[in-house]
Amino acid sequence: MSEKLLEKYANVIVSIGINLQEGDRVEINGDVEALELLREIVRLCWRKGAADVLVDIQDPQMGLSKYEEANSDVFDRFPQEKLDFSEALMKAKYHKISISAPLLDLFQNVDRDRKSRWRRTSAKAREPLMQYMQKGDIKWVVAAAPSRRWAEKVFPHFTCKDATDALWHQIFKMCRVDRDDPVTAWKLHDWILRIHANWLNIQAFDRLHYSGPGTDLTVGLADRHTWVGGSSLTPDKVAYMANIPTEEIFTAPHALRVDGYVRATKPLIHMGHVLENFTLRFEKGEVVDFSCDRNANLLEELLCLDEGARRLGEVAIVPNSTPISQSGILFYSTLFDENASCHFALGSSYAESIIGGSEMTKEERFELGANHSLTHVDFMVGGPELDVIGYQKDGTEVKVLHQGEWAVDL
Ligand code: ZN
Ligand code: ZN
Repeated sequence: MSEKLLEKYANVIVSIGINLQEGDRVEINGDVEALELLREIVRLCWRKGAADVLVDIQDPQMGLSKYEEANSDVFDRFPQEKLDFSEALMKAKYHKISISAPLLDLFQNVDRDRKSRWRRTSAKAREPLMQYMQKGDIKWVVAAAPSRRWAEKVFPHFTCKDATDALWHQIFKMCRVDRDDPVTAWKLHDWILRIHANWLNIQAFDRLHYSGPGTDLTVGLADRHTWVGGSSLTPDKVAYMANIPTEEIFTAPHALRVDGYVRATKPLIHMGHVLENFTLRFEKGEVVDFSCDRNANLLEELLCLDEGARRLGEVAIVPNSTPISQSGILFYSTLFDENASCHFALGSSYAESIIGGSEMTKEERFELGANHSLTHVDFMVGGPELDVIGYQKDGTEVKVLHQGEWAVDL
């Protein structure tokens, strides 16, 4: 992996990702295998005038030892001191950079009861902190760096070093880091995503109809929904890119107005397990039936987490011609795979998908149809055979996607 490209990648994360402004405070979370990239990012943050840079390095193997060795009651209580610290950072507006690698099956053999108890405990404990993120004045970005385990999963026939190099190569390509001027390339890409989001907003669709192999689904859209694509804006109008890469334009479906059935077109990686070939059937917004070839019990567990986990919280359009989709690579990482395919999410919606949503309570957003849950899990439904038709309130039909591509030429 070339040092020059690593510097360029760090620059995309700092300049486009959180768009660091002089005097910003930054909190960086990163995987222990991403040290080289993290060092570049920290250096750049200081160079660009950060007021403080806090780094939290995580090692998945240490995370694993907790599940294997800790006393059982550890999984039912979240240390208040940790929450207080997180809250203090959010109050002081520490912007967040996360550099991750998917954990894959690392936690596969961990006691399932401990895992689901901890998931619930930490989601509940952290819920009150969401209000700080929803205000929108904390900029954040999630990007990836290869771990050995991840690289070997994506490129199983390569040696470890070759697999890691190949994954870096793909990450640089998908994140436009291989361009002469990646920052300008990202600004242009952002502009194109926003044009499509604006077009969808002008259409003011009441609902979308999806058809494809194994899919015949009508998805109502939340009242006052807005399509979001590319960069987000803080209340002070500073643009930041929350995901690198990103190819999606998304909004909030109506939690009570989804009917029909949908088949996932790519495997879903959930808690380290692969859920394959699954179909969900919806009535009045709720999953009333499902089938799944592998790990069906995990899908059931996911759907039973809470009332909102059985309803949709995100509908995202991604044309089939995006670089990630065209690469044909299954990345086993939501950050990449969701940008290769139209997708939905089971669970919570994003406040920014509702006009004025960040100033509303979750109950107020739910009144408009925006779903609420402790979870948010994306699953892919796109592909070259997917057609999406939008319906306006008066019944006017507009083609949105034809055979996986934008049906409009903007
Ligand atoms: Zn999405
Ligand atoms: Zn999502």
